[in-house]
Amino acid sequence: MDLSSPITALPGIGPALAEKLYKLNIASVYQLLTHLPFRYEDRRAISTIARIQSGETISLIARIDSIKNQFTHRGKFIQDAVISDSSGSLSVVWFNQSFLAKTLKAGTTVALYGKIEDFAHKKTLVSPDYEVIDPNSPQSSLHTGRIIPIYPETAGISSKWLRSKIHQLLTSTQITSVIPSDITNPLSLLPWEKALHDIHFPTDLTSIETARRRLAFDELCLLQIISLKRRESWKKTRLSTPLAVDQEQVLSFIQKLPFILTSTQLSAIKDILTDMGKSQPMNRLLEGDVGSGKTVVAAIAAYVSHLNGHRTIIMAPTQILASQHYSTLQALFSPFGISVSLVTSANKPSGNLGSVVVGTHALFTQSKYDQVGLVVIDEQHRFGVIQRALATNFGASPHILTMTATPIPRTVALTVHGELDVSVLSTLPSGRLPVKTWVVSENKRSAAYSWIASQITQFGAQIFIVCPFIDPSESASTVKAATAEFEKLTQIFSGYKLALLHGKLKSKLKDQTIQDFRDRKYDILVTTPVVEVGIDIPTATIMLIEGGERFGLAQLHQLRGRVGRSHVQSYCLLFSEDQSERLKAMENYHSGLELAEIDFRLRGPGQIYGTLQHGQSDLSIAKFEDLDLLDLAKKTAETLSDQLDHYPVLRSLVSQGKIDAIQPN
Ligand code: ADP
Ligand code: MG
Repeated sequence: MDLSSPITALPGIGPALAEKLYKLNIASVYQLLTHLPFRYEDRRAISTIARIQSGETISLIARIDSIKNQFTHRGKFIQDAVISDSSGSLSVVWFNQSFLAKTLKAGTTVALYGKIEDFAHKKTLVSPDYEVIDPNSPQSSLHTGRIIPIYPETAGISSKWLRSKIHQLLTSTQITSVIPSDITNPLSLLPWEKALHDIHFPTDLTSIETARRRLAFDELCLLQIISLKRRESWKKTRLSTPLAVDQEQVLSFIQKLPFILTSTQLSAIKDILTDMGKSQPMNRLLEGDVGSGKTVVAAIAAYVSHLNGHRTIIMAPTQILASQHYSTLQALFSPFGISVSLVTSANKPSGNLGSVVVGTHALFTQSKYDQVGLVVIDEQHRFGVIQRALATNFGASPHILTMTATPIPRTVALTVHGELDVSVLSTLPSGRLPVKTWVVSENKRSAAYSWIASQITQFGAQIFIVCPFIDPSESASTVKAATAEFEKLTQIFSGYKLALLHGKLKSKLKDQTIQDFRDRKYDILVTTPVVEVGIDIPTATIMLIEGGERFGLAQLHQLRGRVGRSHVQSYCLLFSEDQSERLKAMENYHSGLELAEIDFRLRGPGQIYGTLQHGQSDLSIAKFEDLDLLDLAKKTAETLSDQLDHYPVLRSLVSQGKIDAIQPN
């Protein structure tokens, strides 16, 4: 067994557990070891029973005097225990865990961690974490009496389980670092084994950050090697037919656009068309802030592909965005007689597909597409997955254009997307006014509502109202909150036309609602935070966001980017009681990159911007402030990538590429 072995190589981990671990992106031994705690609990202080107070959360080492299963008079099934240490005794309850009566027999020494509450009029330790320990060496406790790592969990995989497994791996197996120590020794980095130990089982809180930096170095290095290898193999890929670029036709297409392209749009188009004329497939990232006009750049590339008799596939992350691209592209292309099709799970065309096919992930479940010259992936970050899917679905190797609004500096983009060429749209179309932004407190709410009403009456303004961010998925509670807000607003804005949009609506209804809003059939669209990405409705000019403090600045910037998409002055009202510098930054800054940097500076390490979220799973350890490690990681990677034959474990980790490369079983 080595670091690259599948997790099932470990004793006691079968297919069922592997399946669960995979939900945490853990498929290999390496991934288990680098599944890092997201916080720690300091359980070093051991209390004595005689001195504990109600309301305290405490660690104890004690003996079980008695334990029995019983029903309370209210019908709850509890495990009722009495424990004691040299200072006194205490009652403990657990709920619905009948097996405890067997695991924690009288006489057992246990380490416990939990809260003291008044239960049935008695001071009681309620549902504590427990661990059976050896009375002769209480120091052996893994879950109490030390700084305890708390991990991201999933159903069936608790922090306690992860803690034990990782501990077992670190203490019983001989594992060696991914980046060979003969390479890292001269670099004066913390030894890898020590870093792993310190991050999972720190003896003091100050050692954690140094340990994380060492692991971040390895992660960056591994990513660099993978990028180098990918780039190498990409360079070897050949197209059967390079695409010819008919300058004249492209220019006349550009002249017929309803607007003048910006200089950065033009230079991105030049980069892209140059790539497409080569006999090697393009692999380019188009990075541009919200509203910078990426779609039209992709459309021109699609046009060139069409002129060569090839098809273009355009993939969007959500169904709303796919339908929107579909209508935008149809409007652009129909004057040229170019047919466009839409493929989503709700809309699977049966007849012949058009020359341009727009869709969601559902594109991949369709049959094979022939004659694909170009694939465009919008706002899509799981590039590794896509590439593999492309290889199997499209047979040949098409040109690939990825587009993102993720605000990361160009140098960083080049490093983390090492295998890509990058073009940046650094300017917004001319005539755009910065969105006037205010952080608004509750006592101004009714004034704000009257102002909005007058904007509708006087100027026909259209408004987005975004409900607070409750949790990252479009859960029942998010939908409920949005529905309640919608009902409240319908009262307040009686006489105006409101619509509700959330992710749980049927896709036809979603599309219809957005289309109706676009057609000005509604004044106000009340929506949840998850539906917004990429929506382009230039006539909407006011964005109202509830619970502003719950969002990261990048997210707020994305939301605000839904307005200010024409020459008309737009407004953003951020409802929040939080008058901090962070939210106030929204009033003064309008570039995604600047806001990302501010968020990072103010929130510090480990907060929302903690990890470089450019990929679903590429970087989980490294953070913005580790970028000083990049240079060193890059140099190390360059040395190592030619010597992989000497380092078989590293070689197989590299060939596994990304987390999704190895599947359970
Ligand atoms: P994003 O980069 O966020 O995907 P879009 O491609 O949706 O931006 O473009 C935003 C809006 O700007 C669209 O309505 C689009 O038609 C318009 N647009 C794009 N380029 C220009 C331009 N050069 N001048 C004026 N408007 C433009
Ligand atoms: Mg877009």
